[in-house]
Amino acid sequence: MIRFEKGEETAILHNPLKNFEIDSQPIEYRVDPLTGLTSFVRTGRAFWAGIYKTDQTLLEKLVEETRGRCFFCPEKVATSTPRFPADFFPEGRLTKGEAVLFPNLFAHKRYSGIIAISHKHYLRLDEFKPDLLLNAFKLSDLYLRRAHQVGRVEYAEIGGNCLYPGGASIVHPHLQVIASHGAHSLIKIYTEKGKAYYKRHSKNFWDELVKREKELGERYLGKLGSTEWFTPFAPIREDEVNGVVQGKSNFLEFDDHDWESLADGVSRVLKAYHDKGFSCFNFAIYSGPLGRKLRYLRAGVKIVSRSSVQAYPVSDTWYSNCILLDGFVVEPPEEVAKGMRPYFT
Ligand SMILES: [Zn+2]
Repeated sequence: MIRFEKGEETAILHNPLKNFEIDSQPIEYRVDPLTGLTSFVRTGRAFWAGIYKTDQTLLEKLVEETRGRCFFCPEKVATSTPRFPADFFPEGRLTKGEAVLFPNLFAHKRYSGIIAISHKHYLRLDEFKPDLLLNAFKLSDLYLRRAHQVGRVEYAEIGGNCLYPGGASIVHPHLQVIASHGAHSLIKIYTEKGKAYYKRHSKNFWDELVKREKELGERYLGKLGSTEWFTPFAPIREDEVNGVVQGKSNFLEFDDHDWESLADGVSRVLKAYHDKGFSCFNFAIYSGPLGRKLRYLRAGVKIVSRSSVQAYPVSDTWYSNCILLDGFVVEPPEEVAKGMRPYFT
């Protein structure tokens, strides 16, 4: 019932890097089996490999130069970050382990929280340990339940941007936790398409997808607690990994075990990114409408690598993905899965 639709084409050129011999470059165009969104997949990473790798000297300089004025470091977080109104959280800010939750000084949506996840000003990608993430996720859980209770908001997300190339404006490791009356585009598409799939087949799309990925084995990574992990057939960005929370459509259904499973998976993916030489990432944990159990939807997470900290700031955001909504990757998800699989055993 799930179709992995793809086409193949070849670009032909006389390649100056190969003494102007005739060269052919195979490209696949793939269609996401649920959303219909397209992604182009090129093989051969030679050109991009250098662009993605981290300039360690520059990164160390960046960390040192930003440390002294950082509001998220422990010596300033209690005196310089915003506080919640007393009728929302009387404590003003919430803490759990090393994690501290406070309002975003510049809100993105009605409820915009920030969680500084560690006492350390900088974490390498192999230092995002599950317990650090878990404390941050548990604070997110408290915040979203309170926002839903007070403001009856239905839509929520938890996101991570790491370092400037990843869209963060603060070096200190932190997450965004956000709730609003307005749905983001992905959950609107997922809800609509998931519902249509359920009507046609009387089955949940994500349950079927995980089953199919397990059977094929090309992109499946493994099961961690209550979550299933794989690389998507038609990725939006490089090194994309997806996780699905079994049997749950929204954050208010989550229990500690779900958060533990997500923290475990995100930590493993970031470790793999670190070992590939990357320093930046984005992830987003998405949820269906809060408080409504939908049989045709599943909550989950998507993680992607981003171009790293480098002297010449090359960005992996270009017109194709920021305007045309076209995915493009130079490493096929089947190859990404091969490299990622050892981290899931
Ligand atoms: Zn800091």
